Amino acid sequence: MPLIESYRLQVDLSPHSAEELEYEAIAYLDADISPVLPYLNATLGRGVYFPEEPALSWRYKEHNVGFWPDRIAVDHLKDRDEAREMVEELIGLVNRVWDRRGEIEPDTTTHEYLQPLEVYKLLPRTNCGLCGERGCFPFAVKLAAGQIQVQACRPLFEESAYAEQRAELEGLLAVKWPSLQGDLP
Ligand code: SF4
Repeated sequence: MPLIESYRLQVDLSPHSAEELEYEAIAYLDADISPVLPYLNATLGRGVYFPEEPALSWRYKEHNVGFWPDRIAVDHLKDRDEAREMVEELIGLVNRVWDRRGEIEPDTTTHEYLQPLEVYKLLPRTNCGLCGERGCFPFAVKLAAGQIQVQACRPLFEESAYAEQRAELEGLLAVKWPSLQGDLP
């Protein structure tokens, strides 16, 4: 039997909508998911766990995701359909982690988000634009948020002068960005 069997979905326009409308979704759950949070924290790699709440904050692509004992919230959604799909996927993720908790070492530490500056320091910093971004810092912001692949910075991979930086950056990025629909890492 899955941990979360049913939920009530609330989708609202985000008060932070600027030029384009954005939505926020909250799924109110029929189950207490507190026990799964340390397993999710271990699985998501870059989650930020707050044991005293308890709550787990996670960035997935452009979305901020919050897991609380009785609800899951996600923002930056373009419409109600995306809200429904994303919530379904997050609930699937929670249920899969719970099913596989016997294989996962729970983690109750509070990680920090990867900071763009940490990433930026290891890029070539030539602002050549070959990655399609306006420069290295915008690239670093996307890379830290998991929205772009490091391989898009071709100079980093093609020029031997950057080999050491590349190795360090790859180590820093050795975090898990699990597919919400696919297998867990
Ligand atoms: S390709 Fe690499 S060096 Fe060039 S702007 Fe992008 S991140 Fe910077």
